[in-house]
Amino acid sequence: MRREVDMECKEVQRLQGADLDEELDAPNAARLAAHRSDCADCSREYAQLAALRKQVRESGTRFGAPAGLAQRVRETLAASLPIAAPVQSPARTSALSPRAHWPWAWINFGAAATAMAALIVTLGLLLAQPGASSGLDDELVASHYRALQVDHLTDVASSDQHTVKPWFTGKLDFSPPAYDFAAKGYTLVGGRLDYVGGRSVAALAYQRHRHVINVFIWPQAGSAGAGEGARSEHGFHLLGWTDEGLAFRAVSDAAPRDLAELRDLIVEESHRRL
Ligand SMILES: [Zn+2]
Repeated sequence: MRREVDMECKEVQRLQGADLDEELDAPNAARLAAHRSDCADCSREYAQLAALRKQVRESGTRFGAPAGLAQRVRETLAASLPIAAPVQSPARTSALSPRAHWPWAWINFGAAATAMAALIVTLGLLLAQPGASSGLDDELVASHYRALQVDHLTDVASSDQHTVKPWFTGKLDFSPPAYDFAAKGYTLVGGRLDYVGGRSVAALAYQRHRHVINVFIWPQAGSAGAGEGARSEHGFHLLGWTDEGLAFRAVSDAAPRDLAELRDLIVEESHRRL
């Protein structure tokens, strides 16, 4: 448990749930975004919160509460329950944060209750969310995030397109364009197979400065136009486009203009090689 979280971080972390719900006014949302761009802790927490919501949406009642969530639930409840601190046994106190001065002890059902409380809080957040995003976007963001978390960006790690492109052969029923643009500031790190929207897709990982951009590629299906264009989900930027019968989705925390630049490079290179 971090004890010396500064006041601004506390404030930011208190508001991140509302931020995910798009319930904050524009100045506050901008303030949080600016803070996150400079604060790894708050940025990580925000991503975890987003991933948790996604997980709950997918798996309903089956999920394990991530580390730190119980503490956040306690703090949230503590902030909304102005109840005097109860006398706690030393043993119990030691298991709790020094800031948990409220009668959590009476809900002493253990981890199961904590997980249930987390589930309820999270479901509340989900239900309160206006204009829920498309399931596909959620899946793409989750896949991008998961690849970062488990350090599994690539099954084939190479910036050599003559290595990456053939690697997909036989694994997919299409041939994804895998080009390196290191000279332009977009380095192809490698590729991997992923499963999104009910089908196997190619995922190319690009490095852009300190950011990772995942480009998901699959054969364009009937719903042409769906998912194209730029948008943001759970703190990540998405850009969708279609080209030569393939659908592309770029996902990253890199700037939207970077995604657009990478798209232009990919489209340009694909057409050059036709
Ligand atoms: Zn912070």
